[in-house]
Amino acid sequence: MLVLLFLIFLFGLIIGSFLNVVIFRLGTKKSALKGRSFCPHCKHTLAWYDLIPVLSFVFLKGQCRYCAKKISWQYPLVEIATGLLFLQTFVFVNFVRHAEFISASSVVDFGSATEMTTLIIQCGLLLAVGSLLIIIFVYDLKHYLIPDKIIFPAIAIAFLYRISLQSTVYGLRPSVGAKLLTLTTFYPLFAAFGAATFFLLLVLITRGKGMGIGDIKLAFLMGLLLSWPQITTALFIAFLSGGLIGLALILTRKKKLKSMVPFGPFLASGTIIALFWGEKIINWYWKILL
Ligand SMILES: [Zn+2]
Repeated sequence: MLVLLFLIFLFGLIIGSFLNVVIFRLGTKKSALKGRSFCPHCKHTLAWYDLIPVLSFVFLKGQCRYCAKKISWQYPLVEIATGLLFLQTFVFVNFVRHAEFISASSVVDFGSATEMTTLIIQCGLLLAVGSLLIIIFVYDLKHYLIPDKIIFPAIAIAFLYRISLQSTVYGLRPSVGAKLLTLTTFYPLFAAFGAATFFLLLVLITRGKGMGIGDIKLAFLMGLLLSWPQITTALFIAFLSGGLIGLALILTRKKKLKSMVPFGPFLASGTIIALFWGEKIINWYWKILL
């Protein structure tokens, strides 16, 4: 079990290293899949042993082997974040319990095999959308921009995730019917259009000084992925953390009151927290309230 978790984390690190390449090459005409990686400072082509996730950074003490220029902390941090995302997704989808359940039933059940396939698909979709959220986090932080090349595929993946959830629910219990249609179709659409409208109003009121069009698209993605009521948790976390960090930056005079702090990173992290722990947070909140 531990070996399996370690392998999943390792796989996440490798994907994280690829995400760094995507972030670096976005907006340039280079493909993320073609061409060797090089040092952005001295342009020296990097050897395979310079590209081992996290370890290369540690052994090189955060410096380029060829020109000794500092390597950005972004590289190991994105790799570790992606590794953790992969671990958490695997735990979240709860593969192991399902696998045990399936092997425990002595009769080979066609239904449970289909269920397992759906779980694998859902896991893949969550990993993909999570990875895109990490890209959005870093890219918006660096460039104050959420690229369409990332946000549109993410929305498409969130849409597929919704469909896959629906097929699990219908496949298992077709008798429950209309109530589930509301839960699986109406709620996510309501959350997506609701959140997008909310951000559209914010953009109009602040005249685009606070939020941008990218934030509206991101809000739509969040609603679709998280549905109602988890979307409120994500937005609450985003506004709270954004406000606190913005305030801290102003107090320490790193930013002026009127200067821009990108909101995408807060939305992206709020989404990931609400995706995995949203229900727990809402339950806990109600317990305090009642
Ligand atoms: Zn260099």
